[in-house]
Amino acid sequence: MNLEQMGKVSLGAYPTPLEKMARLSEKLGRGTLYIKRDDATGPAFGGNKTRKLEYVMQEALAGGYTAMLTVGGPQTNHGRTTVAAAVQLGLKPILVLGGPPPETLSGNLVLDAMMGTDLVFAGDDMEGAVAATIERYERAGDRVYFLPLGGTGYVGMLGYIMAVPELLRQIEQMGLRPSALVCAAGSLGTYCGLVLGARHFKAPFEVVGIPVSPPAADFKARAAALINDCSAHYGLAVRVDERDLRIENGPADAPYSGAAYNQPDPLTRAAMFELARSEGILLDPVYTGKAFRGMLDLLQRGELGGAGEEVIFLHTGGAVALWTREHLDAMQQDLRDNCQIRTLP
Ligand SMILES: *Cc1c(COP(=O)(O)O)cnc(C)c1O
Repeated sequence: MNLEQMGKVSLGAYPTPLEKMARLSEKLGRGTLYIKRDDATGPAFGGNKTRKLEYVMQEALAGGYTAMLTVGGPQTNHGRTTVAAAVQLGLKPILVLGGPPPETLSGNLVLDAMMGTDLVFAGDDMEGAVAATIERYERAGDRVYFLPLGGTGYVGMLGYIMAVPELLRQIEQMGLRPSALVCAAGSLGTYCGLVLGARHFKAPFEVVGIPVSPPAADFKARAAALINDCSAHYGLAVRVDERDLRIENGPADAPYSGAAYNQPDPLTRAAMFELARSEGILLDPVYTGKAFRGMLDLLQRGELGGAGEEVIFLHTGGAVALWTREHLDAMQQDLRDNCQIRTLP
């Protein structure tokens, strides 16, 4: 199958910038670090879900769907980006979110509501809530497209398979030969799409995934299966074994994922502040802060980078989560301890 000819709608601006992190590189002395700015895709603050949605939305429009339903945690970035894309393309946006309705809308939920989303809180019965919501819409005459968690599936993964040739053109223009590309791994669509793309398009770099929640024992096996199934689906020659994949969990007593998904974590915040203070680039506390902490730790241990090597960090977005209640609260003390807040005498 010719991947270049797969249909997609246009959402967001490409190529996203590939920038050198000169001050951070100098400070760490572990090679030259670059950042691929997929936080800058747009729409509605963008992030990595936009590349997936270009292919997903094409399928939804071609199939004559009138509503787009997706699922996630209450602060899903994927949900927010999906809503923006649906609104832009004239589909009704519906989010089915885990847990009870929150007391205050913060972070992504403010933006979801602002864009006119139907927000359904599923409690602890996600499957039941999805089925009931689809039925309600279909009874009213809609055709509902169901997009799985994180937009991860063969269609969405095309976004990150095809991000690889974009990146290869940039590194060629800039005369780079990076040894690694580091990204956060959640629902795995981004990591697996990148690994598949990197193999298929013969990229020089290894893709390193950092889990954003404590990974299940079969996390790597699931990643390998997703890559192989997707490769077969598109008729590509790539086959991987889980031992070929590089997913770094970090030290057992201080894993890069922290204690749990979305849980405020001081080591993650320290890594976020490091990048903010050395490059003026803002990460998020749920995904990119964890991946970035992982990258810094691997660099410091000598397990990544080194003299003369180039390493790229993929910024997948997510900064809207900085304005969620729990993360705002968690940051107060750190920030007050760490910066000068003055009043003039
Ligand atoms: C969803 C998300 C990820 C993880 O991507 P997956 O494809 O689900 O693994 C990483 N960073 C941010 C900011 C996200 O919103």
